[in-house]
Amino acid sequence: MDLVLFGMQGSGKGTQSKFIAERCGLTIFETGAQLRRLADEDSDLGRKVKSILNAGNLVPSEVVMEIIADFLHHLPEGASALFDGIPRSDDQQKLFDKLMAGENRDFMGLLIELSEKEALKRLTTRRICSKCKSVFPSFYTKATCENCGGELTTRHDDTPDAIRTRLDTFLQKTLPVINAYKARGKMLTVNGEQGIEGVTKDIVETLNPYFSCEEK
Ligand SMILES: [Zn+2]
Repeated sequence: MDLVLFGMQGSGKGTQSKFIAERCGLTIFETGAQLRRLADEDSDLGRKVKSILNAGNLVPSEVVMEIIADFLHHLPEGASALFDGIPRSDDQQKLFDKLMAGENRDFMGLLIELSEKEALKRLTTRRICSKCKSVFPSFYTKATCENCGGELTTRHDDTPDAIRTRLDTFLQKTLPVINAYKARGKMLTVNGEQGIEGVTKDIVETLNPYFSCEEK
């Protein structure tokens, strides 16, 4: 069983995916990391990825699926994958479902639920470290970074308009994917409107029947 993680910007999905991977023994599929690995590889797919990246083009969904297939073939026998941020649109979902069926892999979706209002609030008030780029939520009130002591500023790309655009993209493109998996009984949900530790605890409890996660 593999896991497909969903959450609106501000839901803490990136942070939670690392915790879940560790606690539930899943291997995260990160598009960026896979692209870098493949671009260095002397293979057909590696050369294809390299030429797309060198041309400065976006990687088409069909190639993303080839990359996922390659990732799955490199997983140790019996290992489970965690997909974070894929599929993000109807088109990708069709390709993804077909790929997973062809690979004989079953999966569950997990949605970290957050209202638009809370997402907006979180995104407009979060701050970023000017040195190490760590992101801090509004409830972190210190003036400097707890990792490196760097100064905290608001993110350049966190203007209300830019945030609105990112949320609209999620609602228009990704929400239909979530609803489709819900309709097929393939979507678990947890309440994202609580502290990070509370969300992790709920996720571990929700996933345990499927993945045998470590309780803490
Ligand atoms: Zn820092």
